[in-house]
Amino acid sequence: MRISILGSGYVGLVSGACFADFGHFVTCVDLDEKKIERLKRGEIPIYEPGLDALVADNSAAGRLTFSTDVNAAVADAEVIFIAVGTPSRRGDGHADLAYVASASEMIGRAMKDFTVVVTKSTVPVGTGDEVERIIRKVNPAADFAVVSNPEFLREGAAIEDFKRPDRIVVGLEDERARPVMESVYRPLYLNQGPLMFTGRRTAELIKYSANAFLAMKITFINEIADLCEKVGGDVQAVARGIGLDNRIGSKFLHAGPGYGGSCFPKDTLALLKTGQDYDVPLRLVEATVSVNDNRKRAMGRKVIAACGGSVRDKTIGLLGLTFKPNTDDMRDAPSLAIIQTLLDHGARVRAYDPEGMDAARALIEGIEFGADAYDVAEGADCLVLVTEWNQFRSLDLSRVASLMKTPRLVDLRNIYRTDEVARAGIEYTSVGRRAEL
Ligand code: NAD
Repeated sequence: MRISILGSGYVGLVSGACFADFGHFVTCVDLDEKKIERLKRGEIPIYEPGLDALVADNSAAGRLTFSTDVNAAVADAEVIFIAVGTPSRRGDGHADLAYVASASEMIGRAMKDFTVVVTKSTVPVGTGDEVERIIRKVNPAADFAVVSNPEFLREGAAIEDFKRPDRIVVGLEDERARPVMESVYRPLYLNQGPLMFTGRRTAELIKYSANAFLAMKITFINEIADLCEKVGGDVQAVARGIGLDNRIGSKFLHAGPGYGGSCFPKDTLALLKTGQDYDVPLRLVEATVSVNDNRKRAMGRKVIAACGGSVRDKTIGLLGLTFKPNTDDMRDAPSLAIIQTLLDHGARVRAYDPEGMDAARALIEGIEFGADAYDVAEGADCLVLVTEWNQFRSLDLSRVASLMKTPRLVDLRNIYRTDEVARAGIEYTSVGRRAEL
């Protein structure tokens, strides 16, 4: 099939490369000329494991091309995916649909024969109707079907998730789109990947419900972690104990600094706004958003408490900046609020992240960057493990202790065992694991 994808970010690029790998002919389009120039040169503008090889192979095979020419890409395609950003609208938290609207206009103007237009971006319920309206307005004669096909991939494991999804949700109102979508996903479909057809609005709602539920699960265990600290419990054992129950499941029960990233914060907020617009209170989601917001700065205060109540003129080393490992994505990372809290309280902050430092430099002022974990530990009064990159999992703790001014570790991901840190002579604080009262 001939597929064009508007938006070559985390989702557009990964989807494009994977569709090409399925054997389709794919054009990845973006308005960002620099991004497309880099892609044409074989450079990958984001960090996503395995993506460079997948892009190189499929480009070499002639199945994957890059372009800034929306008109040509749209006119040439049987299926067009919209994978542009839908960030939080400044001021009110609704999903900002400006990019989706402008992509829809471009598609409407350039469309030729019957075309299936697929919204892969995360968009509020009813957006499919809006995309349809915009296309019809700019091109009343156009023959097309608008489909909702939300994406569930996780950054850092995006290719694996795309190629082995738990489910593929396809929401449609026009039956002509069904065989087209079956062909697009044929390789997965043959592989028993569950393809679930629903109405378009239901598909849009599935995406937000999934993200809100996962955000709620994380937030739940984070609150239980706080309780564990007060009553003398171990949140990891609690998580294991409840997660073994199949009705609950063990995933997304890791206590930590709160959820962040480019999806959960904006999607939970957008779902709340939808609830308000339709006069349906979503109190659990509301509580989730508010508890998580508080938590990020609370983690900064946790570091201050670990440092004896003050960080003024102290040096705090941060290990990890991105919202999770194996990505360079810094959008809404908990590290941002933690750093701000520490700076507000007079600390000097030095940080190291294997992939996120370029993006972090653009977002944070007033901190220094180190060359690696040991560099950041040198002379520090406290080391804070924020993101669980593999390279932070087996640090030489004796070396860390010998480098630090005060050997003190705040482990916001519970990577280390209390006894091994103690053996290295490091004062240790983790999340939800105060074993004794
Ligand atoms: P991104 O910001 O990385 O990429 C969006 C790209 O779209 C940018 O490169 C931008 O230049 C381009 N763009 C904007 N308008 C365009 C237009 N009219 N034509 C062509 N290109 C245009 O965003 P992302 O992280 O890939 O997310 C895209 C969507 O997918 C969002 O709705 C997001 O919520 C959703 N999503 C993201 C993830 C994730 O892990 N990042 C996972 C699932 C769903």
